[in-house]
Amino acid sequence: MNAKDPLLAARGDDPLAGYRLAQEPFYRPARNEIALYEQAYRHRMPLILKGPTGCGKTRFVERMAWALRRPLITLACNEDMTASDLVGRYLLDADGTAWHDGPLTMAVRYGAICYLDEVVEARQDTTVVIHPLTDARRVLPLDKKGEVVHAHPDFQLVVSYNPGYQSSAKDMKPSTRQRFAALEFDYPDAATESDIVAHEAGIAPALAERLVTLAHSTRALKHHGLDEGASTRMLIYAGLLIRDGVSPADSCDMTITQALTDDPDTCQALKQLVQAKF
Ligand code: ADP
Repeated sequence: MNAKDPLLAARGDDPLAGYRLAQEPFYRPARNEIALYEQAYRHRMPLILKGPTGCGKTRFVERMAWALRRPLITLACNEDMTASDLVGRYLLDADGTAWHDGPLTMAVRYGAICYLDEVVEARQDTTVVIHPLTDARRVLPLDKKGEVVHAHPDFQLVVSYNPGYQSSAKDMKPSTRQRFAALEFDYPDAATESDIVAHEAGIAPALAERLVTLAHSTRALKHHGLDEGASTRMLIYAGLLIRDGVSPADSCDMTITQALTDDPDTCQALKQLVQAKF
């Protein structure tokens, strides 16, 4: 660490203090993903977490960062994101222009796990900056600053993407994806998912089980009117509203049916599924 770095002076001794998880995140494993991640982390292997939205990828990486005692810097990618948003830029302040590390540079410099959520949403000219970090070089060139940052030994890059509804234009390019090992995620088995929904929404197990069977029916509609079925996250939202006294029909309409589709026929089909369950 460079003690003269103005960022360090401003933030005390630990520039990543704000990115450390204070308590263990609740995470129910689906398979052996915890052990596999630990193995990959021993080699600081770049990782892709792939799977449908709302199935637990973000929670998993939080759980792992906590267990490995590493700070976690999470960035939700979008198409307006530029390379400067990741690596940093010169900004004007009272003393003139000063370089400000972006979140990726902070992670690389000081040794965090950097999680790029939905990485394919970012443009190729943005994500190309991660290439030299994902091979043996483990460096991040800051072209505008004229500096090459060598990754801290604890740094790891993790990205997520949902192979389900990407258009081929948004698939990960082979030149990018072949730099990563990948862990596949899916919604957990019914008992585990019910357990998660009951815990997260604070509802009775029997209600959580009903919501999970409803989710299974919606997931069967994938490619038959729906791009995706109801996610674990949606079930938690439904559970929260029901717990607060909203009727199951209204809760599920708001958090599942209307959230999943605008198509009137598919809406009707989903409403019938809800009616049959409650
Ligand atoms: P993703 O990153 O895949 O879109 P998240 O990790 O944000 O999904 O999961 C959505 C929510 O579902 C989480 O905030 C958490 O409440 C819950 N969740 C999903 N899977 C799990 C799991 N295996 N253990 C605990 N909570 C989970």
